[in-house]
Amino acid sequence: MQETAGIWQAVLGELELTLSRGNFVTWFKNTQLLDFTTDKAIIGVPNIFIKQQLERRYNDLIKDVLGKNGVSPEEIRYEIYSAPSMKSKRSTDDSVELPESMGNKYVGETRRSGVAHKYRQGLNSRYTFENFIVGSSNELAYAACQAIAQKPGEKYNPLFLYGGVGIGKTHLIQAVGNEILKNNPKAHIVYISTEQFIQEFLDAIRFKKNTDFAGYYRSADVLIVDDIQFIAGKEKTQEEFFHTFNALHQANKQIIISSDKPPRDIPTLEERLRSRFAWGMSIDMQTPDFETRCAIVQSKAQSNNLNLSPDVVEYLANLVHSNIRELEGVLNQLLAYCEMRGLDPDIKIAEAIFSGSVAGPKRITPKQILEHTARYYSVDLEDLMSPKRDKEIVVPRQVAMHLLRTELKLSFPKIARECGRKDHTTAIHAVDKITKELAVNPQLRQQVVELKGRMYV
Ligand code: ADP
Ligand code: MG
Repeated sequence: MQETAGIWQAVLGELELTLSRGNFVTWFKNTQLLDFTTDKAIIGVPNIFIKQQLERRYNDLIKDVLGKNGVSPEEIRYEIYSAPSMKSKRSTDDSVELPESMGNKYVGETRRSGVAHKYRQGLNSRYTFENFIVGSSNELAYAACQAIAQKPGEKYNPLFLYGGVGIGKTHLIQAVGNEILKNNPKAHIVYISTEQFIQEFLDAIRFKKNTDFAGYYRSADVLIVDDIQFIAGKEKTQEEFFHTFNALHQANKQIIISSDKPPRDIPTLEERLRSRFAWGMSIDMQTPDFETRCAIVQSKAQSNNLNLSPDVVEYLANLVHSNIRELEGVLNQLLAYCEMRGLDPDIKIAEAIFSGSVAGPKRITPKQILEHTARYYSVDLEDLMSPKRDKEIVVPRQVAMHLLRTELKLSFPKIARECGRKDHTTAIHAVDKITKELAVNPQLRQQVVELKGRMYV
């Protein structure tokens, strides 16, 4: 056992260097080499989705790297298993952090300051200018971001980017950070979601590390703050942010801010911050037009090595109008459906899956949502519906409640009943918790997208 652990550690070490951080974390976290002989190696994976992705996309790479570490089996098998460390963790409080397998792990940037930056996610290398499709709805934002990436701090400072959900704000502002890092690996780029910023600030006060906190942000060359609308009503955080802003701006450091609405519409935003946000450039990102949506679908399909026919592309682009994350969702549903059945995607299949309804994909029942969620997270449905408070059950249960709300628009009392609860405040709490968590936790977001993808096939 010791030997397999050591080998797998070495394999992961190499994979981590080969793959983008996003891919590495998404596909290889909580995997393990369970056993190997000359015939086959068995790799434990947390769920069916990861199993399929590893089989399809990474099998050769894994084989290759295993070989370099002295394991050259003829075949690799992937089996679903639960990491023992997860099972043994227990908790009686569901307001605690997500277990590591839910992806709330902090990455990078942790050593610069003494505060426990457990909320910090940093940049995701998946978001680049290269894979961002430019159309009339976002060309202005794109151009401004490119200009900033070339000469940070010189033009458009701050850049304030605003627009609806899922239209590429996070993608673009992260692309700026990634591009600057590419040109100058030493640049100190700080990307933070506002919710993380608030949480760290509160922690800093609680653990009396205010100066560390302030120092960390004020030493940034580029500060990227996502979803600033969440700062509404947070007076102390606004004040802290005000001082950070001033310090950086005075030193000609670049500041980039995103929001789902313009500064004038953010309630209880201090006037002095509001006016500072207007100092530089404000850009409104529009919902993507039809051509842009088609181009996005085609490019995402191609990055999965698939060429979709124009009728399928147009069909998908017509299903979802404003939210590109949802557009990716329907594409993934189609691809997953076809992959599991070994079919090539065509318009008939697309129509069958989405049954021509523009309002949304096929209907699903509360029971199916609960079953799919349980299966996705490899927990028993009975446990999900029970009062158990184990960490590995609490989060899937909250996700299920969230899906009952977002997919079926059920009332809170009804959600509680579907989950075997009497008290509907649990449902309110769960939906709220996951909604907030989704804003700051890309891995959880991805899980929910995947899970939805599975629900509708
Ligand atoms: P927002 O921050 O505005 O809510 P995101 O930046 O998270 O939206 O975008 C949602 C998803 O859509 C991401 O996966 C992103 O990569 C993708 N996306 C958005 N706009 C584009 C685009 N123009 N080209 C390619 N992908 C895009
Ligand atoms: Mg965003």
